[in-house]
Amino acid sequence: MQNSETDLVTVYIGLGSNLADPAEQIKSARTAITHVAGVKELAFSGLYHSSPMGPQDQPDYVNAVMAVETGLPPMDLLRCLQHIENDHGRVRKAERWGARTLDLDMLIYDDQLIELPDLIVPHPGLAERAFVLYPLFEIAPQLVVPGKGNIADLLALCPLDELKRLD
Ligand code: ADP
Ligand code: MG
Repeated sequence: MQNSETDLVTVYIGLGSNLADPAEQIKSARTAITHVAGVKELAFSGLYHSSPMGPQDQPDYVNAVMAVETGLPPMDLLRCLQHIENDHGRVRKAERWGARTLDLDMLIYDDQLIELPDLIVPHPGLAERAFVLYPLFEIAPQLVVPGKGNIADLLALCPLDELKRLD
């Protein structure tokens, strides 16, 4: 738990892109996240190729998961991630799950369960999404997802779908 502003917590961030050279978008987002004051990278997964959720008339995605250490409170970190999305030319549309240059999701924040109007943590889709669980397992095989259980158990229940790890 976070007790004072000097305490550091581990946060897992999901990265996704399916426009404008997705692998480059992910790389550039990684750099931007590591440049946020008070954020330090702990681990970064391989890149994964996944089929789109929802509307199928859009390109495939590239996904990755990053672990960082930070003292930033959850909403501050979310705002930083949203700025980075905007800097990467993300245009917010009414349609859910539509094509985007960059999607940054806060998957897990320490051991916290958060239910704010703009922030739900752990991310609600986490346990059903192969493109989140597999890269997360790669960097944190012992992880216990707050309120949901062991990552290995969640992964065993989640079909691989079309997910492929890129070398
Ligand atoms: P998705 O990532 O499910 O495709 P969007 O990225 O379009 O959907 O959703 C963005 C909205 O989700 C933002 O308004 C943000 O406030 C909200 N949100 C809720 N919980 C989270 C979270 N854990 N990480 C990122 N955004 C979140
Ligand atoms: Mg998102």
